[in-house]
Amino acid sequence: MDRVIFCAAIAISFLFAATGLTQKSKSSEAIACRIDLNNVKHMSDIASNALMHEFHIDEPKVFGFLKTARKNHDDGKSLAVATAKEFGIAEADFLAAIEAYKHVNCTHEGGGESKSEPAGDGTISPFAKDVLFHVVVHELGHALVREFDLPVLGNEETLADTFATHYIVSRMPKARASSILKARISSLMIEAEEVPRNEWTVKGEHNSDARRAYQIAATAIAYDSEAFGSLADLVEMTGSEFRGARDYGSELHRSWRRILKPLWMNDGMKSKEARLAIEDDSMFASALESGDFATELEAVLRSFDWHSQVTLRFASGDGGAGWNRSARTITVYDEYVRRFNAQGEK
Ligand SMILES: [Zn+2]
Ligand SMILES: [Zn+2]
Repeated sequence: MDRVIFCAAIAISFLFAATGLTQKSKSSEAIACRIDLNNVKHMSDIASNALMHEFHIDEPKVFGFLKTARKNHDDGKSLAVATAKEFGIAEADFLAAIEAYKHVNCTHEGGGESKSEPAGDGTISPFAKDVLFHVVVHELGHALVREFDLPVLGNEETLADTFATHYIVSRMPKARASSILKARISSLMIEAEEVPRNEWTVKGEHNSDARRAYQIAATAIAYDSEAFGSLADLVEMTGSEFRGARDYGSELHRSWRRILKPLWMNDGMKSKEARLAIEDDSMFASALESGDFATELEAVLRSFDWHSQVTLRFASGDGGAGWNRSARTITVYDEYVRRFNAQGEK
């Protein structure tokens, strides 16, 4: 197999020259901070961290005050000012501490308890590998749509999640599939819960994280309700919702089976038009090169009969994962891997 590992400089110049990866691809999954200091709940969480860890105020006093105070303020700023006053802290000092602790509960780069250095020793946790498996196969869904001109008869983001889930339940061993889906659903629920429920969005191209988690569970249960039944608990699915999922979900699998049928390589054959590119400056380069995770994903790519070369690329830097149409490349950035490593520790 012509597995290609090229140096970052060549990779970047090649990809940029060929295609302009600077242009954000449509399917790129953004990674963003969700903290809003105007939001009273967000401010209350951050203020409690600052009060306890920066100003060493006892937990009962902190929660005693904030529990009531957050109901009496309409915006984060006025809650912060009142909190500083309550504990005899100069307003400027308290607001500076709020800035310092702003990302203490975040899972994006620079977020979390460690406040400064990005977490990680270059290894990828089993949880992160499982989440990334679904993420990469989701991007592969966008790739198949573009390269084979598949019909997009609804929201493409939902389509890509359904494809990823269909692939995993129908092609992977049951235990592995179950582990991957459990991790992906848990990760989406962690992200959903970073925002108060009444602020879960109904806008944008992606469904809300909680909705995505629910649909992934429902799609898996529709395929095999015994093997994947335990996913129901992760999304608080009731008995009648469970039966409903089995009912409407089976159509999804039939449609995917039919539409994918002409796209597979013959049994035992692997496409030569798919390759793996692990850039040297990815902090996970050696883990990816020595383990079997990247080659497992490469094998997924090679199971389709591509007409032109497609690449799965791991790269350093900020960002999530995305399919770049002109480069025919799925890129996974280090930041995303770190984020899932951090989520796995929760
Ligand atoms: Zn997508
Ligand atoms: Zn943040």
